[in-house]
Amino acid sequence: MLEQLLIFTRGGLILWTCKALVNALKGSPIDTLIRSCLLEERSGDTSYNYDAPGAAYTLKWTFHNDLGLIFVAVYQRILHLLYVDDLLSMVKHEFSQIYDPKRTAYDDFDDVFRQLQKEAEARAEEMRKSKQVARPAKQIAAKKAGSQGSAKQKSSGGSGKDGSDDDSAKDRGLENGNYSNGHEARIKGSRAADVAKSKENGSSEVGAFDVSKLQKLRSKAGKKTDTTVSKAPSKVEPKKKLTKKNRVWDDSPQESKLDFTDPVDEKGDENVAVVAADQGESMMDREEVISSESESDAEEEVEKNTKTDAKKKGWFSSMFQSIAGNAILEKSDLEPALKALKDRLMTKNVAEEIAEKLCESVAASLEGKKLGSFTRISSTVQTAMEEALLRILTPRRSIDILRDVHAAKEQGKPYVVVFVGVNGVGKSTNLAKVAYWLLQHNISVMMAACDTFRSGAVEQLRTHARRLQIPIFEKGYEKDPAIVAKEAIQEATRNKSDVVLVDTAGRMQDNEPLMRALSKLIYMNNPDLVLFVGEALVGNDAVDQLSKFDQKLADLSNSPNARLIDGILLTKFDTIDDKVGAALSMVYISGAPVMFVGCGQSYTDLKKLNVKSIVKTLLK
Ligand code: GDP
Repeated sequence: MLEQLLIFTRGGLILWTCKALVNALKGSPIDTLIRSCLLEERSGDTSYNYDAPGAAYTLKWTFHNDLGLIFVAVYQRILHLLYVDDLLSMVKHEFSQIYDPKRTAYDDFDDVFRQLQKEAEARAEEMRKSKQVARPAKQIAAKKAGSQGSAKQKSSGGSGKDGSDDDSAKDRGLENGNYSNGHEARIKGSRAADVAKSKENGSSEVGAFDVSKLQKLRSKAGKKTDTTVSKAPSKVEPKKKLTKKNRVWDDSPQESKLDFTDPVDEKGDENVAVVAADQGESMMDREEVISSESESDAEEEVEKNTKTDAKKKGWFSSMFQSIAGNAILEKSDLEPALKALKDRLMTKNVAEEIAEKLCESVAASLEGKKLGSFTRISSTVQTAMEEALLRILTPRRSIDILRDVHAAKEQGKPYVVVFVGVNGVGKSTNLAKVAYWLLQHNISVMMAACDTFRSGAVEQLRTHARRLQIPIFEKGYEKDPAIVAKEAIQEATRNKSDVVLVDTAGRMQDNEPLMRALSKLIYMNNPDLVLFVGEALVGNDAVDQLSKFDQKLADLSNSPNARLIDGILLTKFDTIDDKVGAALSMVYISGAPVMFVGCGQSYTDLKKLNVKSIVKTLLK
């Protein structure tokens, strides 16, 4: 049984829902589909699974790109409804006949829909029966197939424009999950238009869906909260072995470089002379370009192409504005341009799986659109991709840590950040850079040495603490890091420290005991920010690291509302030239924003991500 069918515009205006489907949806599957799938450029996927307490839905959708309409069907996952694609295609066809941008109510579509649903169900049932009967017969006839088989192929692959309604066409449509031309012919009489004439206008009932909520989704500052969303498992690249990179020392090391060995420190001598760490202003507070691009160039170009204000247009922005002209874009038209774009993204180190998904999503958003007479397909595709990349990389929630720190302070609590990530990526170095930046904003910081696993980790952090002249909470090794973090936070509350930066043991995403300890630390201390520290050097491994970290945190959490990664700190950005793809891969896979970019070995070498510049570099 179908749970709901909903038709809405790209701007978020709900035009029609099926009022006959009385069961109220549990949770908010449509909102979640938009937020976690369509807005994150996963619209090329074939379906989306949504889980909420007491509900497990599958959602399917189709677009009418030229009219800017979205059709979404929701059904109980357990039912494996075979006719949904077929039904969606028919609904799309019929609704587009009566759609008028000035109209907001389509009550007259109720009867049409009921009829379409009956037909789709009947066809699915027919299909099921004919398959049951045909199966043994097919086995016997398999050897005789010859000319008959090819005739059937021809017929099902034909245009269907003659209105033929042969079984082979039906078969193909349902098997492919597509509404085939045979079906189109069947409903060609355009019932919808007739019904529309007989019943004009009516009040718009939008049922359980809140239009303003949909419209606000784009800007909403939301974390994943009361629902767990299971996405189709992503195929994972074989894991590369990660090795800690040796640091290259300059012939004449400068004072400003971060020093990672401190023999005096390692002995734990507290009377060591402290090097004041005043190296100038942190780059975090400078508006600067991250890539090698010239800033003005990069920004101007992207701005030019994306001038249309996303807010004005709704959450799908200008990508979907109609293009005057008469050439309808088909998938095959888009393929060469998309293939070239995919290759380009991969040369910039974007994980293959993600480049692929992005291209599918862009294709899904352009197919069926009218192309202006003088518009090149490649530039249309490029613009669509550019906007998709901007949408992905632009944080959907606040990443203003300074403001959040002050808010926590007003509540009399320290703001707690937990740094997680695999060994050697630059966790402790960049933790120190964050501390340095916070100090420059007159925020008092305490470090918590919760890597109680790797020998030398506590000493390394102590070195940074001493150089920055900030307190460090440490309990040595082999202690439960969750308890150490808890005591550190208590101590910070007593001392009125504004921020606690928690260093944790570097762990491989597959290391179950260490991941369990991390999950416990997060669960027990409920930090304000879980920051994933990852190297900008990684390609396909970025997907593996982040998705497994998130998955493990979710699996190992004792709480139903597991805390996942909230933000990303991308390190070693100074070493990658134009291979900026890891930024995209990591954000895409986790949905978390890049909050800091490490770009060197000095305390000042921490920046904000320049989204426009990254997009420009990715597409160059
Ligand atoms: P951890 O094991 O994750 O704590 O990693 P470390 O903080 O010990 O850093 C590992 C190496 O990466 C050190 O040699 C750091 O100097 C280096 N490193 C960290 N961040 C950056 C960065 O942004 N750029 C460059 N070039 N090197 C970095």
